[in-house]
Amino acid sequence: MQKSTSFVKSVFHLLIPFCMYLSSAGQSYQSLSFEDYSPVSTLVVPQHHVSSSRFPFIDVHNHQYNISTSGLSSLINEMDKMNMKVMVNLSGRSGAVLKRMTNDIKANGLSNRILVFANIQFDGLGERNWEKKTIQQLEEDVKNGAKGLKVFKELGMFNKDVNGKRIPVDDPRLDPVWKKCGELGIPVLIHSAAPKAFWQPLDKKNERWLEMVTHRDRLYTATSPAAWETIIAEQHRMFKKHPQTIFINAHFGWFANDLGRLAMLMDEIPNMYIEFGAVIAEIGRQPKMATRFFNKYQDRILFGKDSWAPPEYSTYFRVLETEDEYFPYHKKYHAFWSMYGLGLPDAVLRKVYYKNALRIIPGIDKAMFPE
Ligand SMILES: [Zn+2]
Repeated sequence: MQKSTSFVKSVFHLLIPFCMYLSSAGQSYQSLSFEDYSPVSTLVVPQHHVSSSRFPFIDVHNHQYNISTSGLSSLINEMDKMNMKVMVNLSGRSGAVLKRMTNDIKANGLSNRILVFANIQFDGLGERNWEKKTIQQLEEDVKNGAKGLKVFKELGMFNKDVNGKRIPVDDPRLDPVWKKCGELGIPVLIHSAAPKAFWQPLDKKNERWLEMVTHRDRLYTATSPAAWETIIAEQHRMFKKHPQTIFINAHFGWFANDLGRLAMLMDEIPNMYIEFGAVIAEIGRQPKMATRFFNKYQDRILFGKDSWAPPEYSTYFRVLETEDEYFPYHKKYHAFWSMYGLGLPDAVLRKVYYKNALRIIPGIDKAMFPE
């Protein structure tokens, strides 16, 4: 990522000497690249910097690849500063690695603060005993403290079955896994596909141009690995096929920029919950539509963030809690636009921050949260 960013920058810098202009008043100015243009807003409106959430919250989408005893106290310290009561670590892996992680957390008396979700290996699906082995492993992981299953975007995109074929998200050979999660009473947090823009031409009209240019591995086509619509439709069919299992569709299912369509899906698929990790910039650019959506689906929206960058959480709190206008987002390659607050009522905030997660994720101590 660093490499491609600096490559793009050096190309722009080479071009700059050829783009010097003179204003009518005789002032010289240069043409600016999109990446360099960062105007400071002159708008004067009330500002509320929110470094800690109004109510304690549960982050259902977090990744800590290595949880070591030594790092736990600084992690808890960061969580406390922003009022994060519970972190769900989706990178639990399985077997001995997962067991070591839950043991370390337990040994430090932090089982009520850091939850771990298990992961499974989809590659090789169709091998003899794959189903039996996988189900047994999942049961063992839950015994060892896993509170849910996390499915990465590799399923439906890159995971290959025993014949080297892409595994569709709704592959019937996976049905026993989804069914088992329902029986074990654990939710499945699943990320499928990616923003639709990653499948669209990399040209001046593409809203995620900067991200695609700086992350060249995020360019996909209808055949490599599959059309966006194909993967998304597979996911929805799979949810509908397993109404007894609770699914948390990560990143608002990549429909945060089309809440009308997402509302239809929420109505069609009552066992689907959603979290807004990495898509708060979509929500913060449509405060009116998003407020209506949050009010209507307040019982099925969870707080998620994804990348672990503590200073960035304040953007999430500010979008959800305040009525601030036109304030900056923290990552230009997600959004070059500004944010607006939704000013959600306390009753809705409590559900999004903790009540909904308490209802669907097993084993969280309710006493840590207000009524
Ligand atoms: Zn994630």
